[in-house]
Amino acid sequence: MMIPVRYACGHRGAIDADLPAPPCACGERRIAHVTAPPPRFRGVASGPHVKTEPLEAIPVNLAPGGPLPTPKG
Ligand SMILES: [Zn+2]
Repeated sequence: MMIPVRYACGHRGAIDADLPAPPCACGERRIAHVTAPPPRFRGVASGPHVKTEPLEAIPVNLAPGGPLPTPKG
């Protein structure tokens, strides 16, 4: 994921979040400002950045070995 940054020299760039930050084209290495993207969650979450997506139905086989024995009472 690329993250927009502003170097101390004022130039703007984008760095890969998974790699060490490369220096600016002018040689500046100090980053003055980072605009972090909103976090993304998969699963159960709540908060101002949450977008809900419809969940797909998944068939679940609860008894792959055949019918379960019924309790005798
Ligand atoms: Zn620069």
